[in-house]
Amino acid sequence: MIVVIGAGYAGVVAANETARTVDEPVVLVNERDTFVERVRLHQLAAGQELPHRPLEKLLKGVTLVVGRVVAIDAEARVVRLADGREQDYDTLVYALGSRGNLSAPGAAEHAYDLAAPRDAERLRERLAGGGTAVVVGGGLTGIEAAAELARPDLKVTLLTDRLGPGLSAKGRGYVTRSLGRQGVDVREDAEVARVHADGVELASGERIAADAVVWAAGFSVPALARDAGFAVDDAGRMVVDDTLRSVSHPDVYGVGDAAAARMPGGQELRMACATGMPTGQHAARAIAARRAGREPRDCASGTSTSASAWAAPTRSSSSSTSTTRRRSGSSPDGWRRSTRRRS
Ligand SMILES: Cc1cc2nc3c(=O)[nH]c(=O)nc-3n(C[C@H](O)[C@H](O)[C@H](O)COP(=O)(O)OP(=O)(O)OC[C@H]3O[C@@H](n4cnc5c(N)ncnc54)[C@H](O)[C@@H]3O)c2cc1C
Repeated sequence: MIVVIGAGYAGVVAANETARTVDEPVVLVNERDTFVERVRLHQLAAGQELPHRPLEKLLKGVTLVVGRVVAIDAEARVVRLADGREQDYDTLVYALGSRGNLSAPGAAEHAYDLAAPRDAERLRERLAGGGTAVVVGGGLTGIEAAAELARPDLKVTLLTDRLGPGLSAKGRGYVTRSLGRQGVDVREDAEVARVHADGVELASGERIAADAVVWAAGFSVPALARDAGFAVDDAGRMVVDDTLRSVSHPDVYGVGDAAAARMPGGQELRMACATGMPTGQHAARAIAARRAGREPRDCASGTSTSASAWAAPTRSSSSSTSTTRRRSGSSPDGWRRSTRRRS
């Protein structure tokens, strides 16, 4: 029994690819029965409607279990759900993704995250009548959020230490001009010390008022891997080898944002759906190879060792691939090129 937990970009690909290549039941556990296009949640916050994507329609040969995972018993090889159900596994694929990192003072209480549909809907409701919004974070999520939210009746300020730190000089210039045209006020070298109900306070003591503060300054991962005793890095991401297998538990694989996968050369893969989908596929292939008694190929023995090889959408990906491809192509400096962590 192969159990995948988390039906995001990485988990759906891992489940489908495993079901296609391994002659064994595959179960996918997710907290809801729909696929959430996280890469579009800023659009939802800005008032656009997103397509409804039932998971059942994306899955092939995979049994869907809807429930929230609250614990993993690595000894007993059991996944425990919030409603008391238990799911046994022989092989586990850990694909629980990430959320915004709201650890800054006041952020958890007052800031809006863009990690789940409910968060984006709350932000949309808050900004329905216009006003002012502060976006904290000048990485790709912050840039996208600021650009999408800005409109004539909504003044957006983006606060960051540096705009687009993973972009080329050309890309940064493009983003700066583009945000300027949309009326977004970009302030670099701005360190947010605290979030309040009515705005933010900078380290300099300056207060900037806002009807909503959108937190886009880094991701955090669920604590389940750490709690289960799997080897994790300082951020709590599962440490995996070249085949995406846990370095501490050979019956467990980690994919997507929740795992700290590395490229040949040791560079950590950034947190992105563009990298998450290939990791899902790669883990599935490694599982299939081991089931067949073969040694799996590691990341380095793929067709290319570049970051873009990992990031390139794969043919066997779910229908979300087309969205990623479109968005990647339309971004100023390529989701695929930056290997920095998304923040
Ligand atoms: C606004 C925004 C825009 C973005 N734009 C882009 C972009 O253009 N390109 C790009 O490459 N990346 C983008 N990203 C980053 C991208 O969304 C993430 O890196 C990606 O979603 C990670 O995929 P994943 O499969 O690892 O996890 P996720 O997509 O987060 O999926 C994890 C799944 O696990 C489920 N889950 C979590 N905990 C539990 C639990 N305890 N029990 C059961 N189920 C659980 C979740 O509900 C979810 O279905 C963006 C992110 C944001 C927030």
